[in-house]
Amino acid sequence: MSHIDSRLTTDVDRAVKVLRDGGLVGLPTETVYGLAADARQAGAVARIFACKQRPPDHPLIVHIHRPAQIAQWAREVPAAAWLLAETFWPGPLTLVLPRLPDVPDGVTGGLDTVALRVPAHPLARELLARFGGGLAAPSANRHGRVSPTTAQHVWSELGDAVDLLLDGGPCRVGIESTIVDFADGGIRVLRPGAITADDLQRVTGIVPSTRAGSGVRAPGAMTSHYAPSAKVVLVAAADALAEVATWRERGARAGLLCACRPDGLPTGVPWLSLGVATARQAQQLYARLRQADELGLDILVAVPPTDTGLGVALRDRLLRAAGRGDGRVFVQGTPPPDPQD
Ligand code: AMP
Ligand code: MG
Repeated sequence: MSHIDSRLTTDVDRAVKVLRDGGLVGLPTETVYGLAADARQAGAVARIFACKQRPPDHPLIVHIHRPAQIAQWAREVPAAAWLLAETFWPGPLTLVLPRLPDVPDGVTGGLDTVALRVPAHPLARELLARFGGGLAAPSANRHGRVSPTTAQHVWSELGDAVDLLLDGGPCRVGIESTIVDFADGGIRVLRPGAITADDLQRVTGIVPSTRAGSGVRAPGAMTSHYAPSAKVVLVAAADALAEVATWRERGARAGLLCACRPDGLPTGVPWLSLGVATARQAQQLYARLRQADELGLDILVAVPPTDTGLGVALRDRLLRAAGRGDGRVFVQGTPPPDPQD
């Protein structure tokens, strides 16, 4: 990163001006870095889609400063949604609600709903407070690729495209927000995140359902997403060394992503440490996926965490990084195809 590039800054007033002028700002949030534009300016929102090469019918999350601003975007707010907003905002939770008619179609992908979140990062809060309106801000990466968790990540991927990049340091949560909607009086988790199903139930008394079968048209709901260039192969811990060996025999450059370095990992095979605590794993996951590409790996053998708490969201991201977001196939049991495939 060029430190003399004046577009890299912590100057919130400059960011407000860029946004008012219809520009794009790289925005730190506690989840991942966003690519922010004024959600009310159709031209600015269109620039987000062009910059990310994102399919135009995929909706964006509108970031607001305070829960009371929900009323500027949503026409109906179920009691459970208010409860969740009051409990978890500012924080990594996105609420999908019926939209008001004046919400731009570019933001909602033409859907009758709008997704809203109040982020917690101090720079994002300051920016939203001074800006006053809503900011459409998907993750600041090219569509389908790994989300950025540092300003450096944004710079290397979209540095040419942003008008300004607010540097807020590494993201505290590290994976995207939990997204919920309120279909049929219930709560449905469209994307798992740091606010877990247990958290949602504890606050509302409602047992959430999961996304399966929702048919929502959304990138986070695609089977392949968050993907590095290296092919990601998921295995159980007990099979990790054998999987690495199989790929190496085929001439592929393989690395291993897991919590603890296993005894017997051959020297020369990069071990990408995920850390042991799930909160730490979430912080590190995307930097590790990027590291796999920096190391020029063909194959990243990964051992996903257990399926509880924050582990649910981590597994979701790893499954999608492996192009297996349908969740049906988890452990690679069959012999791998040729790495050139
Ligand atoms: P991103 O900002 O790239 O992490 O993606 C935004 C995500 O928000 C999408 O992947 C959708 O899952 C979700 N989303 C945004 N708006 C809506 C909506 N109106 N209905 C359902 N999901 C939405
Ligand atoms: Mg994204």
